[in-house]
Amino acid sequence: MKKKSNINDIKKIINSEFKTKRVTANKLDKVLYKPFKVLDHGFVRVIDYMGDDSSIVQAARVSYGKGTKKLNQDKNLINYLLSHRHTTPFEMNEIKFHIKLPIFVARQWIRHRTANVNEYSARYSILDNEFYIPKIDDVKPQSQQNNQGRAGEIDKDLGRHYLSLMKENGKINFSSYKHLLNVDEDGEVLDEKRTGIARELARMVLPLSSYTQWYWKIDLHNLMHFLALRFDDHAQYEIRVYAEVMLDLMKKWVPLTYDAFVRNRVNSLTLSSEAIEFLKMKIKNKKNNYNNISKRELENLKKIFDF
Ligand SMILES: Cc1cc2nc3c(=O)[nH]c(=O)nc-3n(C[C@H](O)[C@H](O)[C@H](O)COP(=O)(O)OP(=O)(O)OC[C@H]3O[C@@H](n4cnc5c(N)ncnc54)[C@H](O)[C@@H]3O)c2cc1C
Repeated sequence: MKKKSNINDIKKIINSEFKTKRVTANKLDKVLYKPFKVLDHGFVRVIDYMGDDSSIVQAARVSYGKGTKKLNQDKNLINYLLSHRHTTPFEMNEIKFHIKLPIFVARQWIRHRTANVNEYSARYSILDNEFYIPKIDDVKPQSQQNNQGRAGEIDKDLGRHYLSLMKENGKINFSSYKHLLNVDEDGEVLDEKRTGIARELARMVLPLSSYTQWYWKIDLHNLMHFLALRFDDHAQYEIRVYAEVMLDLMKKWVPLTYDAFVRNRVNSLTLSSEAIEFLKMKIKNKKNNYNNISKRELENLKKIFDF
């Protein structure tokens, strides 16, 4: 019941028109409240935001004491700020998301301490019978190179067997959850003669693949920090897909900042002093001392520079 009234509230807001003197981002306004599907049951939607590219420029110009300039100059200024890590103007913009995500993804996500979070309470409400089950192509063996990841391929029949175990596990756990609560999915009592236990206790039997939801509000500077870490190849696939959707939403919100972010962070590279020496020698066609550079960094350079 509670969730339906939540959706109705959102529908009501979508159909309302608000007049404002604040700056707005048209492209983001068009998708405000729209859920973008992620994984099998998750989503990301933007609930609210403050500021656009011009707000960053406006804040920055306070420090430089200049008035508003043309688009091209704004673009250059934003690029300059981002590439020189003059970050505070980006903190002037805020964005609020509604996100539905598996609990194991939420555990990684919550490590980003600079956001404001309000999470769905499984003490207050009964969780849905929904568990994240990966697609067969995303089921891979443990990587031998990267202790924190998956790599290579698994026999498809074996993969399907593992997936069926995951599904079975979800079913069994949810059935225990209902038994402990002594209610069904609609909140109806299962057995009048038995007393169930509290929701805050019964939830302990649910797996990490269960979905949770939260409102997550963050400023643009810290959003970019989050995206730089979680859009990266080293992040787990299941959080990266959320970052992909959010990066796309950022593009609709602050296109000039998005452009500078992709150029200066997403598609850029930080090099160790050993790697710089190594590349200098490579450019001069001199014999390289591979020993000074770490294996991981060397592999990364080989991949990027294609040698
Ligand atoms: C690929 C990957 C693998 C990871 N593996 C692990 C792992 O195995 N185990 C594990 O525990 N974590 C792991 N993490 C989490 C990681 O260590 C960070 O906790 C997470 O990425 C959040 O980063 P952050 O602290 O920079 O972000 P935020 O919490 O958003 O903080 C942003 C910035 O604010 C500053 N800040 C915030 N709070 C403080 C504070 N209290 N003191 C000082 N400065 C602060 C810091 O400069 C920080 O960089 C992993 C993350 C990634 C991306």
